[in-house]
Amino acid sequence: MEKSERENYRGAGKIAAKALRIGCEEADEGVKLIDVARSIENYIKEMDANIAFPVNISINEIAAHYTPGYNDERKFKSGDLVKLDVGAHIEGYIGDTARSFVTGVPKENEIELINCSQRALNGALKAIRAGITLNEIGGIVENICRAQGFVSVRNLSGHSLEKFNLHSGISVPNFANGDLTKIREGIAIAIEPFATDGKGMVTEKEYGNIYRYRYRQRGNNEHSQEDPLMEIIRSYRGLPFAERWLYDLEGKRVRAKMRRLVSKGILTGYRVLVEKKNGYVAQSEHTVLVNKHGCEVTTR
Ligand code: MN
Ligand code: MN
Repeated sequence: MEKSERENYRGAGKIAAKALRIGCEEADEGVKLIDVARSIENYIKEMDANIAFPVNISINEIAAHYTPGYNDERKFKSGDLVKLDVGAHIEGYIGDTARSFVTGVPKENEIELINCSQRALNGALKAIRAGITLNEIGGIVENICRAQGFVSVRNLSGHSLEKFNLHSGISVPNFANGDLTKIREGIAIAIEPFATDGKGMVTEKEYGNIYRYRYRQRGNNEHSQEDPLMEIIRSYRGLPFAERWLYDLEGKRVRAKMRRLVSKGILTGYRVLVEKKNGYVAQSEHTVLVNKHGCEVTTR
């Protein structure tokens, strides 16, 4: 990895970490989700970084892929197990980080679940170095979760990161999946254990107001350059974006328009991922740069 890339990863990581802290401080019982999302995203922009994906605010049995819609009135409630997942990038180099917490009064298991995902992340971070296999990292996460009476979510994983590519080639499993691929020195990866008191699997439900432009889809270059909507969408460079970011341009038509672009195959729409037995889910995530003897966490 070149020095300038490393510096961009570090800068983006630092900004994502601070944005996440801002969100965690603001989120509370009675506060609107959309206000927290805006505070986080505004901070990233104020720091002259870019938003790598819409803030995911996923609550209780929802594991991921929900961001407030343009007209979202939803508020945090007492006992909500909240996962905030934040991404910032500088010139395409991404910091991706997440944390879980409870708003109001915690319910049974919630704090233990959060501690479990945090311990699993710490265990993986301690072990990671060039040459370790994906299977070994997955096994560490799986065992730590099991030792605390929970299970890791098997069909969610960490991932390698590349310039303007949030999920590049490598998937970092949250269980020992037998993948003997070795992690190489100099790559950037996000480690993100999800712990649950449910089945340990998530399933797709309704759209979560997050979309992504399908660059490689045939025919996607046919839109006229003057179409302001497509121009904005292309400016995200294939990274995920939120419906509400386009509200100023499209007004209330925005949701219908996004769905139409999904049905035409121009956009991918993300669906919220819900635990199969409606178990509660906690997530902890850091982005790291792998080196010979360990790793450097960029999102602290
Ligand atoms: Mn994330
Ligand atoms: Mn991630």
